[in-house]
Amino acid sequence: MSFFFVRVETDSGVVGYGEACDSYGCSYASVLQTIVDDVFAPLLVGQPLLAVEPLADRMRLFTRRRLGDQWVAVHARSAVELALWDIVGKLAGRSVSSLIGSVRDRVEVYASTVFLEEQSAAGHVELIAPLLDRGVTKVKLRVGPDWEADVATLTEIRSLLGPRIQLMVDGSEIFTLPTAQQVAVALHALGVLWFEEPLPQGNRAGIEALARVSPVPIAYGEHLFGADEAVDAMRRGQLHVLQPDASTCGGISEARRMAHAAAPFGVRVVPHVCAGPVSLAANMHFAATIPAIGLIEYPPSLAMVWSTFASGAAFGPEAIIDGALLVPPGAGLGVDLDEATALAHPYQPPGARVAGTVGGLPDRFVGDR
Ligand SMILES: [Mg+2]
Repeated sequence: MSFFFVRVETDSGVVGYGEACDSYGCSYASVLQTIVDDVFAPLLVGQPLLAVEPLADRMRLFTRRRLGDQWVAVHARSAVELALWDIVGKLAGRSVSSLIGSVRDRVEVYASTVFLEEQSAAGHVELIAPLLDRGVTKVKLRVGPDWEADVATLTEIRSLLGPRIQLMVDGSEIFTLPTAQQVAVALHALGVLWFEEPLPQGNRAGIEALARVSPVPIAYGEHLFGADEAVDAMRRGQLHVLQPDASTCGGISEARRMAHAAAPFGVRVVPHVCAGPVSLAANMHFAATIPAIGLIEYPPSLAMVWSTFASGAAFGPEAIIDGALLVPPGAGLGVDLDEATALAHPYQPPGARVAGTVGGLPDRFVGDR
């Protein structure tokens, strides 16, 4: 993985930190850096920071017709938007969620874990045991192309964990429609809470066809950029669980717009998390301001990254109480990025290595498409 942090400083010396979710090295930090330095910085330097939204809108309006409203430009804009929120909170001496209007100070987390093919059922149970000990009751696993073997493993996990623990499954965008339909039926038989990203996110017609017939709820959102796209997907009935990420979709304000838009469609909202400490903090604050959000993604494999790069907020499994994590109470986003540590780990472009993998693209990311 790589991590992309943004630092914004005001002329009074207040520093804000933002982050873009890079999803396992997929978004190439040097590309994001160029967009921030060459495109967004000139739009912001010298502007008064009275509120975040006018500046976030300024960045969006200046770039949407060329760099576009999706993917890397929005990743980069998200990171800057979070840094602006961090500053506004610090200037007010309050946390971002309390500034916006907080409805909870703790958010239930679900354990977001590995591919089913990586472990035996007993091995999976052993991996998640420390989280179950902290009161976590929902666990997400990843299904690969050999989905029948994975379903067998999941069936065993289901019986080992007992009915108190709920299971979700992530398809990592690898299936065609006919296979995804078969997987969905099998997952429904196991009482799975949702089937996430079963088809590549660009296969909108296929996703729509699956969502219409799937007996298990369909989840998308970590690759939906803003309310316009989310509303379009929901209007077409393409998902039942929306998973916005404030460090991907355009920022905290945009994630909130997506969450508010979900209610009339009867769509559940569960924020996506798969990045460093600033991204996690931002999504926690986002979750704390939306009454309908009761759950957030929590990848325990990143706990070491969170504690290495930041202080100020406790995010490790030991900080989970009764299955929930405390929203950082400090001013701004409530995490102090350790710049020295970040600078000591300079970005290495992946080169010929495929982003998100070591030594090539594993079959589990190719699937049956
Ligand atoms: Mg996912």
